Amino acid sequence: MSNPALREESKLVLVVEDEERMVNIIRLNLELERFRVVSTDKGFEAVRMVRELLPDCVILDVMLPDVDGFEALRMIREESNVPVIMLTARGEEDDVIRGLSLGADDYVKKPFNPRELVMRVKAVIRRAELPAMVEKAPIRIDDRLSIDFDRREVIVDGKVIKLRPTEWRLLYHLVQNAGWVMPHETLLSKVWGWEYRDETQYLRLYINYLRQKIEPDPSRPRYILTERGIGYRFVDFRNKQPESSHV
Ligand code: CA
Repeated sequence: MSNPALREESKLVLVVEDEERMVNIIRLNLELERFRVVSTDKGFEAVRMVRELLPDCVILDVMLPDVDGFEALRMIREESNVPVIMLTARGEEDDVIRGLSLGADDYVKKPFNPRELVMRVKAVIRRAELPAMVEKAPIRIDDRLSIDFDRREVIVDGKVIKLRPTEWRLLYHLVQNAGWVMPHETLLSKVWGWEYRDETQYLRLYINYLRQKIEPDPSRPRYILTERGIGYRFVDFRNKQPESSHV
């Protein structure tokens, strides 16, 4: 049998950054891990490349010469769910939250350890791949909410709302385990990867996004329930009983 490394086509990463030295460092480290790398120093060009080359992951710097990385991200998200990792020089919490809320999948603060960046590229690509068993038919939760994992959308009061890849994965694991408390570290490991098991702020943020999309009143959730200090529990919609307490 041939070398197993050759069996799978290597993944394509688009690096959007204007500092040539930085691009070279990223390219070198990714190529050592068998990624293919293309790059551009312009946001508009990045959007075109995403459309035409269909990369598996985008590394996007916040500081670009034409548009800023947030604007580029917004444009990319209008046409693609490709995993995006933001590079932020400032590492300010505001930049991080802004990037994540615009649909970035992760961020890395400059100066970064190249190994850490490569690890994160692998993690976001893994996350974007579908879990093997996806239910084809929409799942009806109640009269107002259905979830179509196959099409990556939720139907709320008859209105179709798209889910982003991370939201989709998080909701998938919650609904698959409906009625059970999913601990923070379990959800983080399943949705983001084992190395993220302590990053509870990611989880809180994405639970919040999901609640904004599906809950009638996100401050008083009816579907995604908080188990304080432990984790989250999707309401047990399969057994139509009132709130049960399993001790
Ligand atoms: Ca830059």
